Amino acid sequence: MGDTRVLFAASEVYPFAKSGGLADVAYSLPRVLNETYDVDVIMPLYQFIDREVFGIQEMGETFDIRMGGMTYPAMLYICEYEYMTYRFVYTPLLCDRAFLYGPPQGGYEDNDIRFALFNYAMLEILKREKYEFVHLNDWQTALLPLLLENELKIATKSLFTIHNLAYQGIFEKKALARLGIDEKYFHMDCLEFYGQVNFMKAGIAFSDRITTVSPTYAKEILTPEFGCGLEGFLQYHSSKLTGIVNGIDTEHFSPSTDKMLVTPYKDLRGKGANKNAFLKEIKMKEPQRPLIIFIGRFTWQKGLEIFIDALPEMASMACNIVVLGDGEAKYHDALEALAKKHDNIYLEFGYDEALSHRMYAASDFFLMPSLFEPCGLAQMIAMHYGSMPIVRSVGGLADTVHDHAAFDSKSQKGYGIVFAEADHHALLSAVTNALALYGMITQYNQIVKHNMLCDFSWRESGKLYIKEYETLKEES
Ligand code: ADP
Repeated sequence: MGDTRVLFAASEVYPFAKSGGLADVAYSLPRVLNETYDVDVIMPLYQFIDREVFGIQEMGETFDIRMGGMTYPAMLYICEYEYMTYRFVYTPLLCDRAFLYGPPQGGYEDNDIRFALFNYAMLEILKREKYEFVHLNDWQTALLPLLLENELKIATKSLFTIHNLAYQGIFEKKALARLGIDEKYFHMDCLEFYGQVNFMKAGIAFSDRITTVSPTYAKEILTPEFGCGLEGFLQYHSSKLTGIVNGIDTEHFSPSTDKMLVTPYKDLRGKGANKNAFLKEIKMKEPQRPLIIFIGRFTWQKGLEIFIDALPEMASMACNIVVLGDGEAKYHDALEALAKKHDNIYLEFGYDEALSHRMYAASDFFLMPSLFEPCGLAQMIAMHYGSMPIVRSVGGLADTVHDHAAFDSKSQKGYGIVFAEADHHALLSAVTNALALYGMITQYNQIVKHNMLCDFSWRESGKLYIKEYETLKEES
């Protein structure tokens, strides 16, 4: 740990709050950075976070955030967890909610105020304490570089990481006034986006460096197909943009020490015990069949349309299928209807970390037919747990999963079944190939064993982030 201080900010951090991969990254990346710098992680203290369990303590007095003519009381909290310092911002309007961003049907209407408060609170901290760097993640933290722009006395440099460009934090123009943001920022080179206010644009325009979560996604977001309307804006700022692939925390996701598993395992023999136990748990018949799983948010992004279109035919093949996730009602309904019809489809709605671990451990294949995928962690977790990924070659999936046809046992790459077209025919033929490979058990086992030994940790990517910080240091 060095003297250089970094404030690493995210709207969700495992194990305090998690809705997806951002929380995993916000848990694991700061740990790697902390070997070189002095890193504090900061997030909102949502009301559902158990202060007692984590030993979260008040820190100092209440202070007021003045924003758009209103005053909001705020309080800072702190805890040490697994040798890292976590700081928390508590303001009732931001934190006293049942969901992080809103119910699955849509976001809270005042998310602009909620997350602006988070950014203003961090600004207050930076006024009081010296941090050399602030590392921001996604739109919920993207206003801070704009707020810092006006604070000449604060020398903090900002690095902004885009985890998913599809979520930009777009609000009506009237948000400007309630967020206390000057109209001078409301133009197309800055916050304005088709007459609305766009938080993500503030992060892109004003941060010192931008990273996104895989090299392929860094290229894709410069194109109309993946740029979500910001491709031109990102092209303009591309000299400060780099793609760095995410890693997984190989201690938290470790089949040999995972406390959430019935039988932790080091090799495929041990994995079999987990499969049998899991199939018994969900009362699935024919355990000798290959088990294909899907874990993820039920959104268009994750390829739910093509997955649901492919499911009836998949269910007619000799396999078992287990799905865990939550999201849009139309996907819930369609999946439920299919599960009722086919007894080799098992569904579990909701978010369940322990169940997800048991599924990774039990499964033979992990399906991830995403239409776009900034990085994706699930496919790496799957490979580490000896489940072969079936993925569409897009974004970070293209960077982390290589087609089994090109298998090279001497490489450090992960292998799986890769398909290109975004339609259910391509998905079905990938599943057919997967089942055929499973039939050639020696080959299948060889690839799975290889994947389990690959290094999906933050070791290499951590170095690339440090390079970004060091570049910023040299510039200052
Ligand atoms: P994204 O961040 O787009 O949701 P990632 O693949 O990057 O997708 O990360 C997803 C993370 O969330 C993984 O750790 C995955 O296991 C976990 N996850 C997703 N959905 C669920 C769920 N319903 N229950 C438990 N864990 C889930």
